[in-house]
Amino acid sequence: MKKVVIIGGGLGGLAAAISLAAKGYNVQIVEKNNHIGGKLMPYKLGSHQFDFGPNTITMPQIFKRVFELAGEKSENYLTFQKLPIHTRNVLSNGQILDFTNDHTHMKKQLAQVDEYGDKHFHSFVDEITRLYTLSEKHFFYKTFQSWTDYVSPTLASALLRVRPFESLHHFFSRYFRKREVIETFARYATYIGSSPYKSPATFSMIAYLELVQGVYFIKGGNVRLAESYEQLAKKLGVEITLNTTVTKLNVDHKKVTSILLANGETISADEVIMNADLLKAYPELVEKQYRPHFSDVKRNRYEPSISAFVILAGLSIRNPQLLHHNVFFSKQYKEEFQEMFQEQKYSKNPTVYISNSSITDPEQSPEGDNLFILVNAPALGRNGEAEMNPHEYKEHIYSLLESKGLSIRKHLVQERVITPQDISTKFGAYRGTLYGLSSHKRKDAFLRPSNFSKDIRNLSFVGGSTHPGGGSPMVVISGLNVAEVLAKRL
Ligand SMILES: Cc1cc2nc3c(=O)[nH]c(=O)nc-3n(C[C@H](O)[C@H](O)[C@H](O)COP(=O)(O)OP(=O)(O)OC[C@H]3O[C@@H](n4cnc5c(N)ncnc54)[C@H](O)[C@@H]3O)c2cc1C
Repeated sequence: MKKVVIIGGGLGGLAAAISLAAKGYNVQIVEKNNHIGGKLMPYKLGSHQFDFGPNTITMPQIFKRVFELAGEKSENYLTFQKLPIHTRNVLSNGQILDFTNDHTHMKKQLAQVDEYGDKHFHSFVDEITRLYTLSEKHFFYKTFQSWTDYVSPTLASALLRVRPFESLHHFFSRYFRKREVIETFARYATYIGSSPYKSPATFSMIAYLELVQGVYFIKGGNVRLAESYEQLAKKLGVEITLNTTVTKLNVDHKKVTSILLANGETISADEVIMNADLLKAYPELVEKQYRPHFSDVKRNRYEPSISAFVILAGLSIRNPQLLHHNVFFSKQYKEEFQEMFQEQKYSKNPTVYISNSSITDPEQSPEGDNLFILVNAPALGRNGEAEMNPHEYKEHIYSLLESKGLSIRKHLVQERVITPQDISTKFGAYRGTLYGLSSHKRKDAFLRPSNFSKDIRNLSFVGGSTHPGGGSPMVVISGLNVAEVLAKRL
């Protein structure tokens, strides 16, 4: 039986493993950490449980497809709960705009905060639906294996129809007039680790995912997704080797001949899938002479996506003003992106995102709120982290939240801070980024590094830094796409 080795057990690697094992291949995942799921990582502080990484779950149909491919029902493993009113946006002027896919409720609120937005809401929804439909049809399931894929006329025509030349911020300004309201939508750019002032309007399709399809939580915690995939993978015979770092890929005649592990052992495979962040792992694991199409210089040209400064805060009370997802907007929203991308600095007045999953599932933290507090952060510089004292920055964020009426310090019973440096070390994420590269340049937004090595015949890539992009549903799609191609090739 042909053997496939997958380096890294993130969601992309797991999806590929399940799909290939279900097709009868011998699959082994080698993961450096002691948990499966990569950035989707369980975190427990006392009786407070947190999901590190993906807190916002969209496109459940993609996650379910992995079970279906293996002839299983997702309901036998996990439950997706739709959140009726999913995100509370606290605008910089203090007004509140809750996001929901109940459009009557959206319009009612918009009538109070942005009359123009209320009038144009339906045409806005039509346009984001069109953009999503086109993207799904022409981009998500393509693997761009040869130059003919890139120059296909259908693709070119689709590309021209998804507003690639307009910025996301400009797009939202067509339908909404209040600066603060436009900013609530513009924040979707951060879901692809980018600035709304620079990334293409195509990504307004993320608004479609949330406002039309809906936002979900997985009962028992989003980490249940990785746990269920692990269970299914094992059932299909996938060998999962944890606490094992891959240190080198030996290459000969344009093929990976063996995989060297940190403990000195080597394993061999017919095909190797790299789920570890390709921007970091490919140059580290494969010697330069074997990857002329992916030189260090080429890698360094990619602009990294944003990273995150995260505080996990377990409280002794439940804050009544919070929903499951909450965003407290900065008064200097545009400056925040300028600071992150142009100056590689932490914002003094950042927008703060808080997930409080115990609102939906009190079992997550029976004593009180389990706050996952995230502030966008610049990617690590090539020579280390931007200047920031984690303790001082954390205190600054608490003060900022207190000034907006959310008291944390006096109810705090558990606390942990996770910095971009931690994200880099723990997950091997390129420069501590959440999504690999940003989507500012049109080339990087639509033509991410390919899923297949141009130099090594049996090496492919899945995960956030490759096609179709970052975010948990997209990395699962990358895993399924690559598995499909390999199954034909093998
Ligand atoms: C703080 C944060 C918040 C996020 N929020 C959301 C959200 O709300 N919604 C959403 O959809 N997405 C979110 N994301 C993004 C999402 O987590 C990622 O896009 C997705 O989980 C990445 O999956 P992946 O398959 O690319 O692999 P990863 O999760 O990056 O996994 C790669 C794996 O490879 C392993 N590895 C690396 N090097 C080696 C090696 N040499 N040997 C062996 N193993 C190795 C790593 O340990 C890791 O387990 C967030 C991410 C973070 C960090």
